[in-house]
Amino acid sequence: MRDVSLWRALLGVEKTVIERVEFDEDAELLVAHVRPTARARSRCGVCGRRRPGYDPGEGRRRWRSLDLGTMRAVLEADAPRVRCPQHGVVVASVPWARHDAGHTYAFDETVAWLTTQSSKSTVTELMRIAWRTVGSIITRVWDDVDAHCDRLAGLRRIGIDEISYKKGHKYLMVVVDHDTRALVWAAPGRSSATVREFFDLLGPERCAQITHVSADGADFIDSIVAATCPDAVRVADPFHVVKWATEALDEVRRGAWNDARALARAEPKRGRGRPPADAPPRPGGERARALKGARYSLWKNPENLSENQRIKLAWIAATDPRLYRAYLLKEGLRLIFTMPYAAAVEALQRWISWARRCRIPSFVKLQKSIVKHRARILAAIEHNLSNALIESTNTKIRLITRMAFGFKSPEALIALALLSLGGHRPVLPGRK
Ligand SMILES: [Zn+2]
Repeated sequence: MRDVSLWRALLGVEKTVIERVEFDEDAELLVAHVRPTARARSRCGVCGRRRPGYDPGEGRRRWRSLDLGTMRAVLEADAPRVRCPQHGVVVASVPWARHDAGHTYAFDETVAWLTTQSSKSTVTELMRIAWRTVGSIITRVWDDVDAHCDRLAGLRRIGIDEISYKKGHKYLMVVVDHDTRALVWAAPGRSSATVREFFDLLGPERCAQITHVSADGADFIDSIVAATCPDAVRVADPFHVVKWATEALDEVRRGAWNDARALARAEPKRGRGRPPADAPPRPGGERARALKGARYSLWKNPENLSENQRIKLAWIAATDPRLYRAYLLKEGLRLIFTMPYAAAVEALQRWISWARRCRIPSFVKLQKSIVKHRARILAAIEHNLSNALIESTNTKIRLITRMAFGFKSPEALIALALLSLGGHRPVLPGRK
């Protein structure tokens, strides 16, 4: 056939003989009949070693290739089987696609890149494939990346965290590299077995090189880190410490809201629509509604509050001193993480004695956890392991879990997270 090198370049294949190209008008499909070059032939699909042929397999097969202009294109070739002493009777490898894949390398690579860059509908419509197929493609692309690189090499300062998805029913354990800011590992689960899986993969030599580990303060993580990386500084992740305070604050807000609701139940009922001018006031009902809406004013950092939220906060300060005190306690703790080390040591001490005497049960309890983790919290400030990285990785993974909804397996979600946020991002084919 003429123009073989042109066709090879167009189809993005190597080590491939192009026998002929035809246009299937009914299917509006370009079919390229191909075969591996002599050197690439008769190799095990798993290990790639040259093996004796076994049988012709199931005859001709097709692999979806990248579109040519507006037209879909496939490669068609025999798919004979070989006998490998290690892997048994398997379909021979082909130089244009991964083993067991129905799409070419160039197609896979394009889908992987697109999925990390754009929306679900962009990928499925542009590439004309189902979202589940995208899941299988990114899983095998990631497996390939993982087999050819050591993503755990050179780790020094790491953060361990858990992320909930599927409305809090499922969990992922993730590990980030504080120095490269990359996601390096993720696995389904939230148990000590999950954490141990990571350190087993890391191995004793690389564990010995870990200098800092930040985590959310969970005891089961802590004890495994203590056992596997005894020399590492253990750090309490500031993001989680602030989250504890936000939870304590919300407990106080819910208490105040329930009190107001109890009051509202004793008040005269009001019909639908605008109340008449002479209707009796319902302070309890109004208070309950306002407290319910005050959630975000209390949670947000003060510098990000809207005008409305600022007014709400002023209203709380004026009408519910106890809830406002809880708010100040939460904010006080958050500010400590922005201070230089020496000032933070002092401020944390003052915060602890303030919280101890505050007579708000949820904050007295929080104060006990803070005392327990004091050294770890101060280590986070001293070693400048900012929460920004983990917080932003958290947010990004949460977006990815939403996008990955509809993938069959957590492996596809993990592959997407690692391809999007790891140190080895997908590259478009033909752009060296
Ligand atoms: Zn083999």
